[in-house]
Amino acid sequence: MLIVMRNQASSPEIEQVVASVKSLGFQAKVIPGAGRVAIGVVGNQGYVEDAAISRLPGVSHVIHVTKPYKLVSRDFNPENTVVSIGDLKVGEGCPPVVMAGPCSVESEEQVFSTAERVKKAGAHILRGGAFKPRTGPHNFQGLGEEGLKMLNAAGKAHGLPVVTEVMRIGQLDVVCKYADILQIGARNMQNFDLLKEVGKIDQPILLKRGMCATIDEFLAAAEYILVAGNNRVILCERGIRTFETATRNTMDLAVVPLIKEKSHLPIIIDPSHATGKSSLVTPMAAAGIVVGAHGIMVEVHPQPECALSDGLQSLDFPGFDQLMEHLTYYIQRKR
Ligand code: PEP
Ligand code: MN
Repeated sequence: MLIVMRNQASSPEIEQVVASVKSLGFQAKVIPGAGRVAIGVVGNQGYVEDAAISRLPGVSHVIHVTKPYKLVSRDFNPENTVVSIGDLKVGEGCPPVVMAGPCSVESEEQVFSTAERVKKAGAHILRGGAFKPRTGPHNFQGLGEEGLKMLNAAGKAHGLPVVTEVMRIGQLDVVCKYADILQIGARNMQNFDLLKEVGKIDQPILLKRGMCATIDEFLAAAEYILVAGNNRVILCERGIRTFETATRNTMDLAVVPLIKEKSHLPIIIDPSHATGKSSLVTPMAAAGIVVGAHGIMVEVHPQPECALSDGLQSLDFPGFDQLMEHLTYYIQRKR
């Protein structure tokens, strides 16, 4: 349930509504808005009788929300969320953000040279995995903390904030120490315990869509993070699994404008994992920006043919330069 206050509602009126919601045994989230304040009721299992609350002074009207998510929805918060990472802003009204770097951090040389080149070409954020969720146990699993240190140092050396994946709760402390943005990977989108924990920290979260997740499941996963207190969430469409095998996944482009209708959170796209094929990355990145994505995440490697993970979908340095040239027109404009 969402309680919309009148424009002129006073602080004591807002406090009284919050107290009544709490007295019913629910949580009350005050959502400030440009014109009026709204109060989200969370923690209820089903319909909440609103007769008493609707009559309180300062209340304009009450909206009942039946979806599995509330705080992430536009009903609850009509104003776009813009996530700040230092001076960089991600969201509606900001130029699209470019996150680029290797799938996995493999060596100092590899991550430093990539950071230098992607920065030169205009990227804003350096990506790189140190804890890797690999399909098979014999595949390279990542360098762990050593990799995090290299990523962090390469980012600092080239003035790029860094994003990297955290796979389980036990890794949170070490990942928070070295990362500016924490990535929750597709395979962990419904690791609800992990979502609850990242909801308690004060760092932005990049939440990737699970490869078999519906849009409602994706938004419900984001809801876990917001309910726990962290609203600095960036969503990422990275392709879903369909009958088609010619591409690694099927890039669901419609999700971008649809999520923008349903939610106030920023959404970016990852054409590398969505296609699995380097030649498709630039056209699909451009398509994502055209349909309204707030940014892109792409994999870049100095020698994709030698990459320890995801080489087939990684751009080499000239390929990334071309992508950036191709996207210049869009990247310099506001979304
Ligand atoms: C990645 O970003 O390298 C990754 C493993 O992504 P996803 O979780 O989307 O597969
Ligand atoms: Mn990858």
